[in-house]
Amino acid sequence: MPAASQAPGIATDLHGHTFFSDATASPEEYVAARAAAGLRLIAISDHDLMAGVRRGARAAMDAGMRLLPAMEATAMVGFGTKEAEQFHILAYFPPRFLDGGQLEQTFLYQRGLRVQERFRLFMLDWLASLHAEDRVAIDPFGTLAATPASSFPGLHLLVQRVSTRRSQVFRHFIRCHVRFWTEDRELFGWSPEELIDAIRADGAIDIVAHAARYRDKERLARVLLGASGVEVYTSRHRPEWAARFRAFAEEHGKLWTASTDDHQRGAYAAPPAHTPAWVVERLLDESLPKEWLEPAAQGQVAAAAASP
Ligand SMILES: [Zn+2]
Ligand SMILES: [Zn+2]
Repeated sequence: MPAASQAPGIATDLHGHTFFSDATASPEEYVAARAAAGLRLIAISDHDLMAGVRRGARAAMDAGMRLLPAMEATAMVGFGTKEAEQFHILAYFPPRFLDGGQLEQTFLYQRGLRVQERFRLFMLDWLASLHAEDRVAIDPFGTLAATPASSFPGLHLLVQRVSTRRSQVFRHFIRCHVRFWTEDRELFGWSPEELIDAIRADGAIDIVAHAARYRDKERLARVLLGASGVEVYTSRHRPEWAARFRAFAEEHGKLWTASTDDHQRGAYAAPPAHTPAWVVERLLDESLPKEWLEPAAQGQVAAAAASP
């Protein structure tokens, strides 16, 4: 392998979800699992919102790690057609956006608040469409309707609530909920290229998530060439796919990252490789802490990553 493979790496996990979207962990539990794995730099990248970022950043700081404010933003190819397909673009802000209220001023953060509001209305509409006995079983005291968007349960918590309290309407719920992403052109009808432009205009860096997952390979190739980087290691990539995207990134000078896309469906396992130090430096937009580059601090994951 070329010299780039021997370049220093940093133990990261830059892609994963909390109960603010479709996973089960609180931001604090999410951070604790990564602290136990000895990671240096992490991100919470919930779908289209950043509701868990500040809690996660506090917990990460307490655990001696850094957290990048992030989001996994949804773009659509072929919106409104039978071939419609989601493309997921990770947006990473430098940590200095956590100072003051800078993060909350960004377009993506504000879009996240709109997503939360629309999600709440969408779910309350669905609830209102049910027979009274189904509705009462799911929300006996009408507390959901009284819950503001900022603390309204995310998708995973709603799935849990419906499946445990009223399994009769669970299939109906699952069929309906996808319309949230497929019918709202203003929020989710953006092309990957438009979304990447918006991410950059916000001062964030765009990385294409789980690149092997998309059906439209021809479009993927174009998106990758235009993007700043690609997620190479993720639980959704087989080792040979990761190797292919890593070679692509090294050939084209793209950023590449090591992450998990963890939804807490099993015990936490850190990525099988590290993210290159130069990429981490670009994402932080500041020099790396010296202690991150000391070989003694690299841990066993580095040794595993160095041998192909
Ligand atoms: Zn995704
Ligand atoms: Zn994800």
